Formats: sequence, C-alpha cells, structure tokens
Amino acid sequence: MASSTLLRMAADCIFCRIAAGTIPSTKVFEDERVLAFRDLHPVAPTHVLVIPKEHIASTAHAVETHEALLGHLLLVAAKVAEQEGLAKGFRVVTNTGADGGQTVDHLHLHVLGGRSMTWPPG
Ligand code: 5GP
Repeated sequence: MASSTLLRMAADCIFCRIAAGTIPSTKVFEDERVLAFRDLHPVAPTHVLVIPKEHIASTAHAVETHEALLGHLLLVAAKVAEQEGLAKGFRVVTNTGADGGQTVDHLHLHVLGGRSMTWPPG
C-alpha cells in the first residue's frame, strides 16, 4: 500500500482496517478509491456497505475536494445493486452523526435490497 494511502487512514477506524485488509470482509467490489463489502449484520437480503478507502468521518466531514469521490461512491452503489440483481429497486442510505444513526465514523453508503422498503425509516 502506498504511504500516501496510509497517511489518510485513521488508526482506530474499523472501516480503514477493512479497507487495508487487516480485518476480513466479504468484498463484492473494489477499485483504487472504494471498497464494497457485505454488512456483518444485514437488515435486508442484500446489505452491502460502500466506503471510500480514504478516511472521511461522515458526510458532514466531506469537503469540496471529495466531490468526485462522493459521486463515484454513488455510481459504485448502483453498480453493486446491478451486480446483486436488484432490478426491482434498492435503497441507498448514509447515516450521519448520532441522530442520523451513524455507529461507525467512516463515511459509508448502505445498499439495501431484496425486499420491499418502507418509508419513513425509523
Ligand atoms: P451505521 O450504523 O454507521 O450507519 O452503519 C455501520 C454498519 O457497519 C452497520 O450496519 C454494522 O452492521 C456494520 N458493521 C460494523 N462493524 C462491521 C464489521 O466489522 N464488518 C462488517 N462487514 N460490517 C460491520
């Protein structure tokens, strides 16, 4: 791994460790900027997390230089949904902060599918 990548990791971040491969995960997609892997505690038949390899704590911590990366994350979410056969539809969610229900402080998109979703979420 390039040292520049290491510099952008947070030492105590579980998703940085998954991105680095030091914590195992079930990967469904990977490129140089992002990783998609199955959620450990799925809440839908398909539940995949899409993360930037660079540590960004949450949507609220993203800055203008992340614009292309944020767009890429969404395109990868759609690619994962297609790969998972979610032709009938799917949901992409990013929880932000305590009231948003965020429990891991590394920005991630949840790709949920394989069942009919309800609205509003809890
Ligand atoms: P949040 O609550 O921050 O929106 O989402 C965090 C998600 O990460 C949860 O759905 C949780 O199940 C998942 N998660 C937490 N730790 C791990 C882990 O070590 N491996 C995987 N694959 N998922 C995890």
